[in-house]
Parts: sequence; C-alpha cells; structure tokens
Amino acid sequence: MDERPEGPRSPGQRLRRAAPLAVLSALTVTVTLLPPHNHHPGWIVAGTAAYALLLALEVALPWHRLPAAWAPAPLLASFAPLGLVRHGADGAASGLTPVLIAPVVAVALHHGRRAVAAALACGAATLVVPLLVVGAPMYPLQEWRRVVLWLGASGLVGFLVHRLVAHLRLQAQHLSVLARCSRDLAAADDAREAICAAARQIAGADGVYLLEADGDGHLRTTGAAGPRVPAVVVDLDGPATMAARAFAGHDLVFAADALSHPGVRRDVLQALGAGAGSSAAWQPVRGPHGALGVLVVLWRARLGALPAHVPAMLQTLAGEAAGAVERADLLRRLSRAADRDPLTGLANRRRWDEAAADEVARAVRSGQPLTFGIVDLDHFKRYNDTRGHLAGDALLRDFALAAAGQLRTVDTIARWGGEEFALALPGCALEDARTVAERLLAVVPDGQSCTVGLAQWWPGTGVAETLRRADAALYAGKEGGRGAVRCDGETGSGTGGGTGEPAEPARFRA
Ligand code: GH3
Ligand code: MG
Ligand code: MG
Repeated sequence: MDERPEGPRSPGQRLRRAAPLAVLSALTVTVTLLPPHNHHPGWIVAGTAAYALLLALEVALPWHRLPAAWAPAPLLASFAPLGLVRHGADGAASGLTPVLIAPVVAVALHHGRRAVAAALACGAATLVVPLLVVGAPMYPLQEWRRVVLWLGASGLVGFLVHRLVAHLRLQAQHLSVLARCSRDLAAADDAREAICAAARQIAGADGVYLLEADGDGHLRTTGAAGPRVPAVVVDLDGPATMAARAFAGHDLVFAADALSHPGVRRDVLQALGAGAGSSAAWQPVRGPHGALGVLVVLWRARLGALPAHVPAMLQTLAGEAAGAVERADLLRRLSRAADRDPLTGLANRRRWDEAAADEVARAVRSGQPLTFGIVDLDHFKRYNDTRGHLAGDALLRDFALAAAGQLRTVDTIARWGGEEFALALPGCALEDARTVAERLLAVVPDGQSCTVGLAQWWPGTGVAETLRRADAALYAGKEGGRGAVRCDGETGSGTGGGTGEPAEPARFRA
C-alpha cells in the first residue's frame, strides 16, 4: 500500500505520526497504575523507558529520507515495551493482552500487507516468548489458547482494516483520475481526442477509438488515442456488430477474446489494430439527447477479466464525454456563425477584418505582392425592384458560390455589405489580380453584371488605405460604364483601359 518514502515533515506532521504510539504507551502505562499492586515495577520502568525511546525516534528520525520499508519499525518495535510492562504487571493476569491488537490495527491503517504480517508475528512472539521462558504460574498453560485466539482475531481485524483502507485509497485515486480527465476535457482543444486519451488512461488500454453516429446510418471514427489506424465506418443497418449493439444499449460490453467473441466483426476490430489474443470493450456514449457513439477500447494482450473499477469509471467518463462533444460542436458552430455571413456563407465583415490584417502581415513577412478588391453587383437595386427581394437574395447567394469557385484556397472573399464583396488575393500583383477579377465578371448569374475595383497593397500602408484606393477604382469603374475591372491608378474606362501598374512604383522584393 503506502510503501513510498514520505515527504519532509513539519513539527505538526511529526507529532501526528507519533500519535498512535503515544496513545498506546500512555494507555499501557496508565493501566499499570490501577490496582492490584504490581510485583515487578522494574520491568514497568524499563518498558516505559523503551516507549519513550521509541517515541523520540518516531518524532526525531528523518523518515522521508529513510527506506520506506523502515516506516512501520517503531510500531513493530512497540511490542517489546508492551511485553516488558505486561510482565511487570503480573504477566497473563495484567489484563494488558487485548492491547496487543492496537499496534496491529495502527500498522494496518498506514502500512502494507507485509507490515501487518510482521505485526502479527511480533504480537505472537510477545505472547509466546514469556510462555516458553517464564511459564506458569505467571503465564499458565491456558495462555496458549489466548495466543491462538489473539492471532486469529488480530489477523482478521488487521487484514480487513488493511483491505478497507486500500480500497478507499484506490477509490480516491480513481476519483482524482476522473477529476483530472474532466478538467482535461474542459480545457482540451479537441474534445474527442481528449476523451479517448482519458479512456485509455482509465482502462490501461493500448488503443481507444471514438466511433460517432454520422446521422446517416453509420458510426465513424472521430477520435483516437493510441496507435494510428485508418478511419473505420460501421454500417448501423448492416450485419450486427458489437459497436452497433453497444450504440443501441446502455452498458459496457467486454470480450476477453475479442476476435473470437460472438457477434464481433473481425474486420472492424482488425482495422482498429486488434490481433489474436486482444481483448476489447465497447462503451456506449449517450448524451442528454440520446446515443452519440461508442468508445471502442482495445488491449493488445488478453485480459482475463475487466479490472473492477473500469466499467464504472468508463461509464462516468462516457457521460462527461457526451457533454464535452456537444459543447465542442456548439462552440464550433457558434464560432462559425460569428465568422460567416448567414445569407451567402462567405466570411463576414468581422472575419474579413481579421483575414485582411493577416494577409498584410504575411505579405510584410514574405515580400510577396498582395492585391485587395471590391466587387459590386451592378444595378442591384433595380434587380431587387423588378424581381423581388427574394430573387435578389438568391442572386447574392449564387454569385457568392460562383465567385468562391473561381478563387484559390489562399484567396479570401467576404461579404463586405449589401451587394458588395471584398477580395484579398495574396501572391497576386495587380495584373494577375485583374485576370482573377475578370473571371468573376464572367460568373455573375442571371445575366447580371458586376464591377470590380482593385488596388495593390504597398509596403508601409495598411488595409484601410488599400481598400480606399480599391473603392476609388470601383467608383471609377461604375462611372466608366460598369461590368468591368478597374485597377487603382488606371485612367480611361473599361476593362483594358489602364496599365494596371500601381500609381507608385512597386517596392516588393523579387
Ligand atoms: P450600382 O450599379 O451603382 O452599384 O447600383 P446598385 O443598385 O447596385 O446600388 P445601390 O447602392 O443603389 O443599391 C444596392 C441595393 O442592394 C439596395 C439594397 O436594397 C440591396 N441590398 C442590400 N443588401 C441586400 C440583401 O441582403 N438582399 C437583397 N435582396 N438586397 C440587398
Ligand atoms: Mg453598392
Ligand atoms: Mg451595386
């Protein structure tokens, strides 16, 4: 049990450590003061001195620096002064025999099984030695019965106390593991990976995989801890699998010999890394809104039986897990909603502000060109007025989708407001950006058109200044007749009306 060296002790801790021995010695010596008269006071004095010595050692010795196995030594040694005092107080007639159980209980509370056995041996020796050496009349023959009874009763009490304390400590350990897992889940960036890692730790397993219902009749791997394996898909309507069975139920299912267990789909388990002799368990994960998925727990080496604490702990973790997954998904949806324009699904103005600033920072670092643009649908008010507002919405949506399809993944298109969209084209100088923007002109749906103003970012300037120039170019494009791309610094009208060069010489690195 508690076999580790103990930490440095404060005076209070030292006194607390010595308390059982202090109480035992006080009790023993006090009893000798009661009648009848003791015939061998010298033995009582010797016993009391031995108690005092043991107490001094208990308080003074640096136990945290001594080998852990020495820790029960003072309690074990306390049988000696007890035997001396007992002898001084007329031996078997002293009434002190029941006190011999006290050091056994004290050892069982704080030390391991071996220390309890040693305490029983010391107690038995305390009773047997005077029987053999002194004998009757101080230690009559009936004492042998007491020795046997004492050993039986003290053994039972000692080992029961030891087991009870060990059980309580284990429970406290499990609770602290669960509390830590729960804290990790709350703080984790990826709740699903954290759940699998916690389950793996609780079960002492080699691999834990979270299979989640995809709402389409399948369970799919969404989280893993342990050896990397390819993603697994289990058809809930297909041949019965343990995962599907666990998903439909409430309780953990355990298979000591996973691959030959009835109802196990060997291919699914093998895909998750189970081999001959592997054990597996399936723990349903259920949230307040129903079944969410299944935790598949794998042990490479066969487990005869599931450790007693594992089912209850996995069950508790699964309850926490469902909440954590739902919270993580909600957060993802909320953060997406905070970033997205609800009508078009494009980045909203808030997200645009961040993305544009990031692009400028990146261009500063890389020295690569960067061009911003503003796209404005032409005569959109008229379109709304003639076709209706809903048709206007549909046009905005369709254009957003089509425009996004024309861009690279590194480009950003955002809804700037109304029927205006902002563009960030990293790595594009003005002429390249013009080519991209012309592709946008071509994809405005329903026979409509748009005008695009472009401005290349110049080092030393910011987003706002560049957009102001792009907006001026857009205004010039509108003035020039719409349906065109107009670059900053360009004169004339129409798409090909300017040079596309920045008004200031380009100052990018090559
Ligand atoms: P121009 O060619 O000069 O850009 O003219 P325009 O009509 O496109 O520009 P104007 O600024 O006069 O009108 C923009 C219109 O866009 C007015 C507004 O009702 C409409 N609008 C803004 N947001 C939405 C929206 O979310 N849905 C719909 N259907 N219309 C919108
Ligand atoms: Mg407008
Ligand atoms: Mg417009």
